[in-house]
Amino acid sequence: MTKIIDGKLISKQIKDEVREETRILEEKGIRLTLAVVQVGEDPASTVYVRNKQKACEYTGIASVKIAMPAETTQKELLSKVRELNEDSSINGILVQLPLPKGLDANEVIRAISPLKDVDGFHPQSVGALSIGLPGFKSCTPAGIIELIKRSGIETEGRECVIVGRSNIVGKPMAMMMIRENATVTVAHSRTVDLPAVCRRADILITAVGRAKMFNREYVKPGAAVIDCGMNRDENGKLCGDVDYEDVFPVASAITPVPGGVGPMTVAMLMKNCLDSARIQGIV
Ligand code: NDP
Repeated sequence: MTKIIDGKLISKQIKDEVREETRILEEKGIRLTLAVVQVGEDPASTVYVRNKQKACEYTGIASVKIAMPAETTQKELLSKVRELNEDSSINGILVQLPLPKGLDANEVIRAISPLKDVDGFHPQSVGALSIGLPGFKSCTPAGIIELIKRSGIETEGRECVIVGRSNIVGKPMAMMMIRENATVTVAHSRTVDLPAVCRRADILITAVGRAKMFNREYVKPGAAVIDCGMNRDENGKLCGDVDYEDVFPVASAITPVPGGVGPMTVAMLMKNCLDSARIQGIV
């Protein structure tokens, strides 16, 4: 029987755990605050920002939205980030990506204090992850680790193939799976015979961004399949990188899209906001 990994349920469990922890902090007089900076009015970004604020409300974390016009200059944005770095009432800083054309996201990420980098994108956070030091972890891969662990999927000594090598999903995912003692292969657009490489996997993680690209030809019978993709199919319907209907009968466990990896990202952002208290030495 194929197990459907329920990201909605697991993300709720995590948010409930965060809520309990923030309640305990509040009893000690500590209220955590996340600052979310949105530049411009990209409708998808507005939805993402609203979802993050809703999750803050649910978990007992205060949130402040800083809306800046699309014409904001790099200098103005960097100055806002520095102001938030200095503001002791702010525990986490998130600059919603993508930024409007002409703004350099990498420079903005580097400007965020590593102590408040709740997205986990700062080079210091990435470096800490790669050498096993404490720090903020990129939310989507950290959420996948939770999905795997809480679904009882064994990682130690098992073959994990990750398709995609982006800085926010593929690469940190590989670091995290190494820490979980998996044997890790990272595949990408230049990989030769991708189906054969993927069929080695006991755990296949796809983070490519191509609708329904992975059919059962890519999946070893009994593999766990984790689908990061958020794409639109030919009818405009949300779908993953995996052809769910085709792969479902051969996989031992699989994440649906929507309702798999997606909800985990915001839940892990809340977890990172909670961790900011420890990283900043407040608790
Ligand atoms: P990127 O576009 O940054 O990276 C895509 C990766 O896939 C690249 O490494 C690329 O290889 C590889 N790739 C592209 N085409 C192929 C191919 N035909 N065969 C093998 N590899 C290929 O994407 P992201 O990592 O940012 O996102 C990946 C997916 O995950 C997207 O659908 C995105 O929407 C989704 N996503 C979902 C999140 C969530 O919260 N659920 C959060 C973040 C992302 P190369 O490096 O060689 O170009």
